[in-house]
Amino acid sequence: MFKKIEVRTTRREELIDVTKQIREIVQQSGIKNGMLVLFVPHTTAAVTINENADPTVPSDIINSLKKISPILPEFRHMEGNSDAHVKSSLVGCSQEIIIENGQLVLGTWQGIFFCEFDGPRHRKLYVKVCEC
Ligand code: ZN
Repeated sequence: MFKKIEVRTTRREELIDVTKQIREIVQQSGIKNGMLVLFVPHTTAAVTINENADPTVPSDIINSLKKISPILPEFRHMEGNSDAHVKSSLVGCSQEIIIENGQLVLGTWQGIFFCEFDGPRHRKLYVKVCEC
């Protein structure tokens, strides 16, 4: 099963919790035991798994990434968004999650976040669910 999630971001940098949509896709697939692959087809966005209980965690992640990859005067990329390209590579464009008994195997505090680093934009998140 292959699905495409549309994500509309509203800020330059934000983490958007997509856990609910991914759980719905797993339910729709009917697959009880397998793997789920998430893939972001963008060079200035990413996908990560982290705490979704306390909303200060996503904002702390964004603030830390700003310090790790600031906008530098020596950047040569003409589009002016090299900091976002670096953040995308640091966080990564894919995740894999185990599906067991029809449920995503996530820790109690874990959620799935689409990471925007050069918004606002209209983005896509690809989801592949396989039985195994
Ligand atoms: Zn660029």
